[in-house]
Amino acid sequence: MSAIDSLPPLREVIAAHGLTAKKALGQNFLLDLNLTAKIARQAGDLSGSDVLEIGPGPGGLTRGLLAEGARRVLAVEKDPRCMAALAEIADAWPGRLEVINADALTLDPSGRLTPPIRIVSNLPYNVGTELLTRWLSLDWPPFWSSLTLMFQREVAERIVARPGTRAWGRLGVLAQWRCDARIVMDLPPEAFTPPPKIRSAVVHLTALPGPRYPADARMLSRVTAAGFGQRRKMLRAALRGLAPDIEARLEAAGIAPTRRAEELSLEEICALARELAG
Ligand code: SAM
Repeated sequence: MSAIDSLPPLREVIAAHGLTAKKALGQNFLLDLNLTAKIARQAGDLSGSDVLEIGPGPGGLTRGLLAEGARRVLAVEKDPRCMAALAEIADAWPGRLEVINADALTLDPSGRLTPPIRIVSNLPYNVGTELLTRWLSLDWPPFWSSLTLMFQREVAERIVARPGTRAWGRLGVLAQWRCDARIVMDLPPEAFTPPPKIRSAVVHLTALPGPRYPADARMLSRVTAAGFGQRRKMLRAALRGLAPDIEARLEAAGIAPTRRAEELSLEEICALARELAG
C-alpha cells in the first residue's frame, strides 16, 4: 500500500478533527484527490524541487504534491485546528513534509527551502492577491522559480490579460513584466467544500531570468498606479502628477498623450517608465 492509500479520505479527516470551514480564513477545501493531483501536476516536474504551500488546510493539495513526487514540501497554515491532520500526512511521508503554524503574511519562509523552489497553493482568496504582489515585487530573480496558484477566475484573467482589454491593468503588468503567465485550469464552485460563489482558476507563472523590457520597478509601479487608477482618462491627464511636462515626456517615449493606459502595451509602459526615470 502506498503512503497516500494509508491515509483516510479527506471527509473523514475533516470530521475527525472538527475542521468546519471558517469564512474568515477563506476556507473552501478541495476534497477530490484526483483533482489535487491534477493541480500539483500543473506545477511541472516536482521531483527535483522544494515546494512552498500556503494554506494547506486539511491537506488535500499537500497529499497531491507529495504523491506527485515533490522533493520536500514546506506548508504554512494559519489555522491551528489543521495541525493534527497535517501531522498524519507528515508521518505517512517521513522527512518530506514540514508544517509551520503561522500567518503567511508575516513569515518569510525563503531561507527554509533549497532551490529550485516552486510555490503551489490553493490560496485563501482574501490574502492571495497580496501574496502574489509581494512575490512579484521581490528583487529579481526571486527565490522561487514558479508559482501555481488558485484564484477567483476574474483575478486570474487580470494576471494573464492582454493590452487593450478591460482586464489589463496593474496586476497584468506586474506579472507579465518578469514572468510567463497562463491559466492552466478552470474550476467550478462545486469543486470546493463549501462551494464559493465564484468560479476559480489556476494560474501558472514562471519567473524569467530578467525583465522583458528594462524599467525601474518603482517607476513602473508609479506609472501603472497613476495610469490605471484613472483608466478612462487620457494619459496626459492621468499622469499629470508624475511630471510637469508629461505631454513632452509621453511624446519622447513615442506615446500619443491622448491615449489611455489600457491601450498601452507592456513595452510602451516600460518605455514610459524609463523616460520618466531619466
Ligand atoms: N489548500 C487547502 C485545500 O485546497 O483544500 C485549503 C484551501 S483554503 C481555500 C485556504 C487555506 O488557507 C485555509 O486552510 C486557511 O486556514 C489558510 N489560510 C488563510 N489565511 C492564511 C494565512 N494568512 N496564512 C496561512 N494560511 C492561511
